[in-house]
Amino acid sequence: MKFNPEQYKIKDQRMEPFIDPDEIWDYINNTKSTKERVREVIAKSLSKKRLSLEDTAVLINATDPELIEEIKQGAKDLKTKIYGNRIVLFAPLYVGNKCTNNCKYCGFRTTNKDAVRKTLSNNELISEVEALEDNGQKRLILVYGEHRDYSPEYIAENVKTVYGVKKGNGEIRRVNINAAPLDIEGFKTVKDAGIGTYQVFQETYHPEEYKKYHLGGKKKDFNYRLTSLDRAQEAGLDDVGIGALFGLYDWRYEVLGMVRHTNHFEACYNVGPHTLSFPRIKDASSIDVNPDYLVSDEEFVRLIAILRLAVPYTGMILTARESADVRREVMEFGVSQIDGGTKLELGAYHQSQNEEQNLNKEQFAISDDRSLAEIIDELIENEYLPSFCTACYRLGRTGEHFMEFSVPGFIKRFCTPNAILTLAEYLQDYANEETAKKAWRVIDKEIKAMDNEKVVSQLKERIEKIKNGERDLYF
Ligand code: SAM
Ligand code: SF4
Repeated sequence: MKFNPEQYKIKDQRMEPFIDPDEIWDYINNTKSTKERVREVIAKSLSKKRLSLEDTAVLINATDPELIEEIKQGAKDLKTKIYGNRIVLFAPLYVGNKCTNNCKYCGFRTTNKDAVRKTLSNNELISEVEALEDNGQKRLILVYGEHRDYSPEYIAENVKTVYGVKKGNGEIRRVNINAAPLDIEGFKTVKDAGIGTYQVFQETYHPEEYKKYHLGGKKKDFNYRLTSLDRAQEAGLDDVGIGALFGLYDWRYEVLGMVRHTNHFEACYNVGPHTLSFPRIKDASSIDVNPDYLVSDEEFVRLIAILRLAVPYTGMILTARESADVRREVMEFGVSQIDGGTKLELGAYHQSQNEEQNLNKEQFAISDDRSLAEIIDELIENEYLPSFCTACYRLGRTGEHFMEFSVPGFIKRFCTPNAILTLAEYLQDYANEETAKKAWRVIDKEIKAMDNEKVVSQLKERIEKIKNGERDLYF
C-alpha cells in the first residue's frame, strides 16, 4: 500500500499519547530527499519556521556528503541568526541517586548493587551550592533518581534551600529540575517553588524498544512518561525540556520523535518545548545496551544540525557527557547551552578528591571534566559570549511569551545585553586576570556591533554600576 501520511494523523489531544511508530517509520522510509527539497527545507527553517515531520525526514534522508555539508552550514547560519554567539552556562547538581527503576543504561538502576546510594543532607546541599557559587555558577539543574523520598514537596524544599544560599556575591538565580515525571499536583508544587525548566527525557520514542530497556519500576510505563510534560503544562509549568537518549534506538527515528513531541505541544498548548537535549549513552556501572544503535561522532553532528533546523526557536543543550573536542565541534551547529565544571558524584563539588570515598556514586562517566574557568576561557578565546542570563523566566517571559524570540530584535534587545552584564559580573567576581582581559575585549567588540544607541548607553551605564559593586542588573 502506498504511504499516505493522512492515515496516521493522530489527533493531538492534551494528556493523550501521540506517538505512532508506523507513522514515523513511514516518513523515514518514504520521503525522498532531492537536492531541491533539501534546499527548500533549509530555506524554510532559515525563515524561522518549525519544520514538519516530512521536512525533517527530507534532511534525515540526505546522505550525499555535499548535501550534508549544506545542512550543517544551514544550522550554523540559523544559530548565528537566532542565537548570536551567546552560550549559556549551567551546572548539574546531583541531589540523590536512590532509584526504584531498572533502566538498563543507568548506573543508578535498582539492580546495580555496586552503586553507593546517597541523598545529600540539607547541609551538604548548602555546601555544594556554596562551592558552585564560588566558581561563579548562577544556573543549576538538580538531578534525582526516582524514589518516594524525592517527592514534589521534597524537591520544592531543595529548590528553596538552593535559592537561599548566598555566598559573597554568589547566588543561584535559576534552578531547573531533571527528575521523575510528576502528577499535575506535583508539578504545581515544584512550579510554586520557583523552578525554571522541568526536564523529562523520553529516552526512546519507540514503545517496543522502550519496554526492552525499562525493566521495572514506574518508568516502565511508556505512555505515562510520554505525557508527563503535558501534565506539567496542565499545571501551568510551561517551561519544559524534552530529550532522547541517543544510542538506544535508530537516531533517525528519535529525531522525528522529538519533532513529533514538539508539534504535539504546539497543537495542544500553543508553545514548543523550552529546550531539547540529546544525550549520547556513556559507559556506566552495570550498563547493558545493544551496541547496534550507538551513534558515531559524524552522525551526532548531523543529528544536531537537523534538530537545530527542525525546531529553530528552541534552546539546545549539550552536556559534559561529550568530550571537549566533540563539544567544540558541535557547538557551532546549534547548541545554545552547555554545562561547565561538571561533577556527577554526589557531594563532589564541595568535597576534595581525598575526602571522596564515593566510588560508584555517579550515574555515568563524563568526558569533559574541565573547570568552569577553563571552559569560559576557551569560549572567549573562540569569540563566544558566555552568558549566565536568567532574566526571561524571572520577568515571566516563559512559555508562549518566550516565543517572542520570533519578534525581530528580541535577541539584540535582551539576550546579548544580558549576556554581557552577567559576563561582566563573572569577570569582576571570579575570573583570573588573563581571562578577564580577553573577555573585556570580546565585550567591547559586541557593544560596537550593536546598533540601538539607547540600549548601548543603558548597557554601558550598567556595566559601570557592576564595576562599582552592583549586581543582578538585567533587561
Ligand atoms: N531519574 C530521572 C529520570 O530517569 O528521568 C532523572 C534523572 S536521570 C539521572 C537523567 C537522564 O540521564 C536520563 O533521563 C537519561 O537520559 C540520562 N542517562 C541515564 N543513563 C545514562 C548513560 N549511561 N549515559 C548517558 N546518559 C544517561
Ligand atoms: Fe533511575 Fe533515572 Fe537512572 Fe532510570 S535513568 S535508573 S529512573 S536514575
